[in-house]
Amino acid sequence: MKILVLGGGGREHALVWKLIESPRVEKIWCAPGNGGIAAEAECVAIDAGDVAAIVAFAEKVHPDLTIVGPELPLVNGLTDAFRQRNWAIVGPLQQAAQLEGSKIFSKEFLVRHGIPTAKMYGTFDTPAEAYKALPSVAWPAVIKADGLCAGKGVFLAPDFAAATDFIERVMEKNELGPGGKRILLEETLEGEELSFIILTDGNRYAPLVPTRDHKRVFDGDQGPNTGGMGAYSSDELLPDGLREIIRSRIVEPTLTGLAADSIRYQGFLYIGLMLTKSGPKVLEFNCRLGDPEAQAILARADFDLAEVLTDAATGCLDPTKLRWKPGASACLVLTSGGYPGKFESGKRIEGLTSVAHITGVKMLHAGTKLAGEEVVTNGGRVLGVTAAAAALEDSLALAYAAASRIHFEGMHYRKDIGAHATHLKAAGD
Ligand code: AMP
Repeated sequence: MKILVLGGGGREHALVWKLIESPRVEKIWCAPGNGGIAAEAECVAIDAGDVAAIVAFAEKVHPDLTIVGPELPLVNGLTDAFRQRNWAIVGPLQQAAQLEGSKIFSKEFLVRHGIPTAKMYGTFDTPAEAYKALPSVAWPAVIKADGLCAGKGVFLAPDFAAATDFIERVMEKNELGPGGKRILLEETLEGEELSFIILTDGNRYAPLVPTRDHKRVFDGDQGPNTGGMGAYSSDELLPDGLREIIRSRIVEPTLTGLAADSIRYQGFLYIGLMLTKSGPKVLEFNCRLGDPEAQAILARADFDLAEVLTDAATGCLDPTKLRWKPGASACLVLTSGGYPGKFESGKRIEGLTSVAHITGVKMLHAGTKLAGEEVVTNGGRVLGVTAAAAALEDSLALAYAAASRIHFEGMHYRKDIGAHATHLKAAGD
């Protein structure tokens, strides 16, 4: 098989890593890829959001399967363009990708189908209407820009003044661009978050192993939100009772709701959940794998990814083929100093060869590029040190030991990835 992978982060490196393990894979292109992917696949300098350029490239090389990492190509209609040509692709059509592309579309979908979610106070097309609604909400409240805003579109407003300021920046000053033209105001939920991702062919589905990610930049969940500072997966995240509730109250009503709305959904569907005292509630849908959740998930994959994804793209997914390594996995994200604010790129990364052969550890590249013989930083999130082991503590220990051998100027990473789960376990909770 010849496979085209779209994207250039740690998630895409994880996909490439597992795809090349398949005996049926002969060639992988990755657009645009990164400094680590370049060692395992042919990187092509095409922007993953550029539908026309990707179609033109696929026309030339005829991949047997295309796998979309990020949301932008899906929201821009890449799958529609591929399906019109009968080319196999993993990822939903543009209409279905609205579950991620429009927070209002997704909230209305959840409400229409009675799927548990945060109470909606209202949706607003003008700042005047939004300001008028503020006196009647409970604080803190959550404000969400409707469209894609590169992770900056959700604001937990502590009070009226902060909410007014956010609405002004988003709706009047257009600080987030067109994604902020409409907003959604909703109740704040409390609890632990859980990422529950399924793979579906539009008919059958298979759940992936559960993960939890860490969004804030500093230990103890301090500092601003990031694209993700780390993630871990362990079966203990999802006791059987909770798995059953998620299946019956969330996953299956979502799939039934999509069918009732005549929306065919094929690909990965990421369900972001808040485990509240009154049960799991949907925070968000994403139309793709999460990053860094994908790294932790794929580290536990014990099946032929190329085969399973071909099945999903061609409507014959067999959920029993997805087998998982027992135990746990973890991914620590090493970032450039200053991220998610301003940071410098082009810093030489040292220590990569010394971790290349540690059993159970895989260095997944995100913001890196090759500069001659060297690998240098090229983004905020630089590397994802990923490890799998029999227990969460062991996978964390492996990942932290490997991270301590890597160095680049300004490097930062959280020291408490997975710590909450291991504390709970130690306390017998
Ligand atoms: P979203 O992109 O909608 O998932 O929002 C990003 C993050 O904001 C989530 O992972 C949560 O941490 C937080 N969040 C979103 N909606 C809510 C809510 N209703 N209550 C509390 N936190 C929320």
